[in-house]
Amino acid sequence: MLIQENISLRPFNTFGIDVSTKKLAAIRTIDDLKTLISNELMPIYILGGGSNVLFTKDFNGLIIKNELKGIQLIDETDQHVYLKVASGEIWHEFVCFCIKNNYCGIENLSLIPGSVGASPMQNIGAYGVEVKDFITEVEALGLKSLKIAHFSNADCEFDYRSSIFKTKEKGNYFITAVTFRLSKHPNINTSYGAIQSELEVMGITHPTIKDVSQAVINIRESKLPNPKVIGNAGSFFKNPSISNEKAAALKKSFPEIPHYPQSNNTTKIAAGWLIEQCGFKGKTFGEFGVHKKQALVLVNYGNAKGKEIYDLSAEIIQAVNSKFGIELEREVNIL
Ligand SMILES: Cc1cc2nc3c(=O)[nH]c(=O)nc-3n(C[C@H](O)[C@H](O)[C@H](O)COP(=O)(O)OP(=O)(O)OC[C@H]3O[C@@H](n4cnc5c(N)ncnc54)[C@H](O)[C@@H]3O)c2cc1C
Repeated sequence: MLIQENISLRPFNTFGIDVSTKKLAAIRTIDDLKTLISNELMPIYILGGGSNVLFTKDFNGLIIKNELKGIQLIDETDQHVYLKVASGEIWHEFVCFCIKNNYCGIENLSLIPGSVGASPMQNIGAYGVEVKDFITEVEALGLKSLKIAHFSNADCEFDYRSSIFKTKEKGNYFITAVTFRLSKHPNINTSYGAIQSELEVMGITHPTIKDVSQAVINIRESKLPNPKVIGNAGSFFKNPSISNEKAAALKKSFPEIPHYPQSNNTTKIAAGWLIEQCGFKGKTFGEFGVHKKQALVLVNYGNAKGKEIYDLSAEIIQAVNSKFGIELEREVNIL
């Protein structure tokens, strides 16, 4: 196992932030992972594709780059397949594998960057689908115990862009594999309006899961900056949930506020709209700024420092709070 010292993390994060790490090691087996962890005294940070992290300073520790690979069909019924997927597999490649084999369910999550292992971390979601609805088990190595633990779907405490691995058990486990239950029979989900419209543009009336995937890819490519061209980590903030009473009061002052009533007496508000109303959409500050098409996405145009992007996020949080009385929460992991 090669351990590199004092190297730049720029190629390892989609924001393209140039900080260094004391050590970096890529692991391909669980035994390598155990050896590495048991001998390490410095802080450890796990990295998949680096598409949901903002580095604000040099890291004085060991970054473990996850390269565990493999997809196993572990069970099958008339209706479903159960796939155990090593956490270092690339998420979109796994989605493509499922589409090719006609395993249905996660096609709406096409083109989300990153690894399979990070998908349960924040319960990735897009276009009306969340990954939690397909995960039956998460396998993880305890970073202190060096023992493998198994988390059922309920154990993971999935929530909107959250799970136990981002809350109570933050930093305690290395997710080694995720088991998914996918349908053998297509149950196409085009509830998200933009997918319907894109399918119409594509001239498709009876979509297959491949068509849905292509529609999602087309929409994403037209709306979101490609991190290979402009550094970013997707949505920087979560969409906030507020009480129905507060939402009703806000609607009086801002009748056009985009709001989505939830089942638990709360209302979700579009964070991008709040940010746009505060005048940040498309604003640039030298090397960094807010994307011109999507106010939720903060961008690095070249050589921005992570701290500058972090400070911009703090300024946005403050501006939204003073205009709307809503505290935005960062979705991106800050290091
Ligand atoms: C252009 C763009 C679009 C995006 N669109 C979406 C979207 O539509 N929906 C969405 O939900 N997200 C989206 N994201 C965010 C991101 O792609 C996802 O959160 C993705 O799951 C992150 O995967 P990763 O492997 O890059 O994680 P990383 O950024 O490497 O890590 C993220 C966090 O998870 C931890 N982690 C990673 N792997 C493991 C592991 N094996 N075990 C334990 N901890 C681990 C890391 O320590 C870190 O705290 C987008 C990002 C970009 C750049």
